[in-house]
Amino acid sequence: MVNYNKKRILQIPSKSKSIPVLVYHKVDPRWEWGGTRITPKKFEQQLAYLKARDYCTLSLPDYLNKCHSGKIGRNYVVLSFDDSYESIYHYAFPLLKKYDFTATVFVITDFIGRENTWDANLGGRTFKHLSAYQILEMSNHGIQFGSHTASHPCLTLLSREVIQKELKDSKHILESLLNRTVDFISYPFGRTDTRVIKTARRIGYKGGVIFKSPKKRSIPPEFRIERQGVYLLDNLTLFKAKLGENTLNHIEQKRLKLINFFSLGTVIVQGLKK
Ligand SMILES: [Zn+2]
Repeated sequence: MVNYNKKRILQIPSKSKSIPVLVYHKVDPRWEWGGTRITPKKFEQQLAYLKARDYCTLSLPDYLNKCHSGKIGRNYVVLSFDDSYESIYHYAFPLLKKYDFTATVFVITDFIGRENTWDANLGGRTFKHLSAYQILEMSNHGIQFGSHTASHPCLTLLSREVIQKELKDSKHILESLLNRTVDFISYPFGRTDTRVIKTARRIGYKGGVIFKSPKKRSIPPEFRIERQGVYLLDNLTLFKAKLGENTLNHIEQKRLKLINFFSLGTVIVQGLKK
């Protein structure tokens, strides 16, 4: 294990030799207006592609260890899920087991086993979150869990006290449920700042994941692990680009930007509509 002490300088590798970190939201065949869903069929096609290319999935501590060692060698990828929807248990979990892959799921702890009333739910349809039993079963099969806060607020808009409560409560609830330490946080809406990160470190988090890394050098790299969102409209060419395998032509780049903008925009709009 890497000793993540404050003075250690962690090298997140440059683009040419980086390990891709992917994030999914719902893996669900049911239609919804939001852009972050992916169908189980498409999810399986992507896992089959990863398997065919001999990718090995990593936990976040292993990802940081690999980045730190600088010895990447084979194809690695980190799979993660934000919001801990129940569809992950029904559709993604069986496929992860089938392909012998691991993943990290970020849980909104106030909503364990409940409907997603925290969300704007465009079109009026609600979706259920993972129950405590489902989280435990997945954990027993090697799926890792992290905090996505207690109630999914935009952390950068909160007072220091409320930030502390969101980060601390969610960590404690998950740790007592799983009987193991919870070291990573996914910032709701991908929004974080130095205040949030200072609080997270003080509470005992070892790292955090984000969509687009802020340029701020004052934020330690392990607290701004950048992820690529994978969405319904991504085809295999775009999926490969998100793995860093290919460079896209001009038209494909525009398409990628548009899909990312639309899909990530959905997440942000939903946050603002609260
Ligand atoms: Zn979220």
